[in-house]
Amino acid sequence: MRLSELEIGKKAVIVKVLGHGAFRKRIIEMGFIRGQEVTAELNAPLKDPIKFKIMGYEVSLRRSEAELIEIIPEGDGETLPDMTSHGTTEEVTLQQKAEVRGKTINIALVGNPNCGKTSLFNVASGANEHVGNYSGVTVDAKAGYFDYKGYRINISDLPGTYSLSTYSPEELYVRRYLNNETPDVIVNVVVASNLERNLYLTTELIDMDYSMVIALNMYDELEKSGAKLDYQLLGDMIGVPMVPTISRTGKGIDKLFDTIIEVYERRNKSVRHVHVNLGPVIEEGITELKDELKESKKHLQFSPRYLAIKMLEGDKEVRSLLASDENFERWNALSEKKRTEIEATLQEDIEQAIANEKYGFISGALHETFQKGEQEERSIPRTIDALVTNRVVGIPIFIFLMWVMFEATFVLGAYPAEWIEAGVGALCDLLHKYMPAGPLKDLLVDGVIGGVGSVIVFLPNILILYFFISLMEDSGYMARAAFIMDKVMHKIGLHGKSFIPLIMGFGCNVPAIMATRTIESRSSRLITILINPFISCSARLPIYTLLIGTFFPLHAGWVFLVIYLIGILVAIITAKLLRRFLFKKEETPFVMELPPYRIPTGKAIARHMWGKAEQYLRKMGGVILIASIAIWALSYYPHPDSAEQELTAQQRTEQQANSYLGRLGRFISPVMEPLGFNWKVSVALISGTAAKELVVSTLGVLYTGDADETETLSEKLLQPDPVTGQRDFTPLVAVSFLVFVLLYFPCIASIIVIAKEAGGWKWGAFAVLYNTAVAWVCSFLIFQIGSLFI
Ligand code: GDP
Ligand code: MG
Repeated sequence: MRLSELEIGKKAVIVKVLGHGAFRKRIIEMGFIRGQEVTAELNAPLKDPIKFKIMGYEVSLRRSEAELIEIIPEGDGETLPDMTSHGTTEEVTLQQKAEVRGKTINIALVGNPNCGKTSLFNVASGANEHVGNYSGVTVDAKAGYFDYKGYRINISDLPGTYSLSTYSPEELYVRRYLNNETPDVIVNVVVASNLERNLYLTTELIDMDYSMVIALNMYDELEKSGAKLDYQLLGDMIGVPMVPTISRTGKGIDKLFDTIIEVYERRNKSVRHVHVNLGPVIEEGITELKDELKESKKHLQFSPRYLAIKMLEGDKEVRSLLASDENFERWNALSEKKRTEIEATLQEDIEQAIANEKYGFISGALHETFQKGEQEERSIPRTIDALVTNRVVGIPIFIFLMWVMFEATFVLGAYPAEWIEAGVGALCDLLHKYMPAGPLKDLLVDGVIGGVGSVIVFLPNILILYFFISLMEDSGYMARAAFIMDKVMHKIGLHGKSFIPLIMGFGCNVPAIMATRTIESRSSRLITILINPFISCSARLPIYTLLIGTFFPLHAGWVFLVIYLIGILVAIITAKLLRRFLFKKEETPFVMELPPYRIPTGKAIARHMWGKAEQYLRKMGGVILIASIAIWALSYYPHPDSAEQELTAQQRTEQQANSYLGRLGRFISPVMEPLGFNWKVSVALISGTAAKELVVSTLGVLYTGDADETETLSEKLLQPDPVTGQRDFTPLVAVSFLVFVLLYFPCIASIIVIAKEAGGWKWGAFAVLYNTAVAWVCSFLIFQIGSLFI
């Protein structure tokens, strides 16, 4: 009997909670466990919710939830299954009855056609069902039972299916059976020697979050082929225990049922709900839809994530399940919109795309755990994969591609940058000629154009960088890069999964930190978040481009690479320190997806690039414009009254040094001088805390150069100071400065996102203090040691 049928005032004892996943966990946490007494307090037919008393307090459950709780009511006349020595039927208490009933496990065999389900059913139950090497005889479940180690095991043999969509009668049957009969444990039978295809169904079952054990059937064939499978690790990675079986002979069957009992009694350590990651494009759609679906609390047997995936797929069953909901129209419209977007971006239909990602998940899981026996024929993608994920050549290939990326960013970006620079210069000239001298002119020329203009020049570089990042992501190479880095990442106490957020950090640390959400382990995620700011984002690119272009034009690509590598090195050291002192190591293995190779579509890349360009331009018009004007004002006032006549270069420098900004710069100068930075540079660094691009805009505002504005900022930096006659920047100062900019204070936006994602402002504060201290020490060492030689 189910709890939903219990009459008011009647007592009952709980036998078990059916259903699965988060729903089951929550109900159990509320106290609905085997042997507990429960009383119905309010239960009107067709009324929701129902009120119960359990463990001395009142709990309301929805009718749909109460339907999934099995009970024995008081005065139940049924006799017990004859399998224990509890004495006569009259003497046993309800608790004892529940105990015995609770030892009945309903299991269902699910798997592809011809995987050996019926053979398994036969050896287990002693029945003699027809076994045959063909598929789809009947669309029907066969049931049997047997007693094992004090448990009564009811076993059902379901028709074979390749998936759980609802296209074929078998698929529909199996899915309805699992939902309506709610077996306690599903046994997913897979052919051990054909895992790639068989595990597809497994990913669907994982999505539905059932209690599950995998029977690795036909293990004899796998062994015969000479292949090797680390099934323990594989099971840990996908959160489902695996047991090798040979159902033809019965080998491994006892172990299988021991494991089933462990899972049923929630004692198995491998059991864990994992998300089969479906790649950034699809995941984004799922997230939005999932958040909407969360609002509806009616369909608790299914996780919102599962419902969202099925809505995106346009699954008929789930649609009709949700159709009665008042919000259905809204969900439907949203899922249609998301589907169209996803299909346009990936240029394939959604089911195909999801299937591809699932195969990517499987392929990634097998890559780490499975070694082929005999030589298989090699396809082109396989050969490419073998090459780029090869331990010896994989990493050099990766480094080479990174170098190409930076070289192209710099060299190709230089041409359009020159055109923009020329345009900005022409605009300045124009204003110079036709505007009367005075604060307004100075504001426009030095504040607005000097500040924003010096940053906008780098738009082409940023676009090129994003072009490469999108290319690597969309083609599937990024996932391979993560793969080859897995071993390396393990050395610093992280996992290959942390690698993608780190690479994304080259674009912008903010979305990169948000991308850490795919990392299941809390400590790995925190470490990945905290080291992310050391991965040099594109906002720092203008600074590098300016200084490297000015001081090391001949070796630009290499200097770039070294700067980025220093960031990576500091990130590694930091990760190690964090692992050592703050978070102790945890060893939960995860699947790293190997999605299929795709020729990236021009559309997807254009969309990525335009997205970034838009963001950049918006920042330009907002934060950077305002900050540039503020910095200009702080550097302009107090100003001598001789507004009508132009100041000489020397007067100008004196004026600036005396300005509010100059005073602020000199105030912190004592701390910065040991690094080789004068007050102007110090001021630029202060303003860079708002956004790193502001470092260049500030230099653009402060280094106004000669009066007729014909020089570029780069040339201005090479000019000696008119007062001291010395250059502010030498190559050594430039290096010290580059390193400082790379490492210090993450920008405000990063700090906010760190605090949010890491779960506390203390992590934001940690990032500020730690990063700035590291930057100072590194620059100090570089400048002081360098000064000894130069
Ligand atoms: P079902 O379609 O999933 O019910 O699969 P069957 O139980 O009908 O088995 C299909 C074929 O696989 C039969 O010829 C079985 O004899 C064979 N088979 C089942 N289990 C094993 C096994 O563990 N090893 C080997 N080598 N063959 C098996
Ligand atoms: Mg069969």
